Amino acid sequence: MDDRNLPLPPEAVDVAVQTVRELIGESGAAGILQRANMLDYLKDGKLAPGKKPTFGDVGRVTQAMIDMYGTKSASATLKRAGRVQFTKWRENYPAAIGLASAALKTLPADIRMKTMFKAVGMAAKQIAHVDTEFFENPDGSLTFKAYQCPYCSGVQTAIPFCHTAVGALDELAIWVTNSPWQTEEIECRAMGAEACTFVLRPSGG
Ligand SMILES: [Zn+2]
Repeated sequence: MDDRNLPLPPEAVDVAVQTVRELIGESGAAGILQRANMLDYLKDGKLAPGKKPTFGDVGRVTQAMIDMYGTKSASATLKRAGRVQFTKWRENYPAAIGLASAALKTLPADIRMKTMFKAVGMAAKQIAHVDTEFFENPDGSLTFKAYQCPYCSGVQTAIPFCHTAVGALDELAIWVTNSPWQTEEIECRAMGAEACTFVLRPSGG
């Protein structure tokens, strides 16, 4: 299904804009928007009034960033952006993602992860109309699938594209379990897959 015209909540766009400006500065952010032909989307560092951003816009901005900085450098920045974004989501959507972290901490790590991904799945559906799936694999790794995805919306590539989501999932896993995880996108809608599929594995420790 084409997800390019799905609307993005304006607050989520403001969070993304804040994050990008923090990481690459005002002029870097403006350069990317210019390249994506979207300079008019911003006014005073926020989403311009009357603009209705879509998933496809995020895909275009991400593609512009990769075109300008190259895959290696852009993917590192996008991963960092994803990590910062997850932290900001927790602050901006406390009911959906903040959870009662004190109560969560008393539960075993695998139950915490399950609880968290259930909350993320509900938030994704309610806030961004994204259908997700989450399951545990026999080897202890976890799989998270997104059947619509703003990060690669409208993009076609030969390699996984959703570095921002990878960073956000890394940060989520660290926050929930207090130990490092590594997320890998193994299938991507930009490669023609039906879902962007992420595998999370505990790393080290
Ligand atoms: Zn993807």
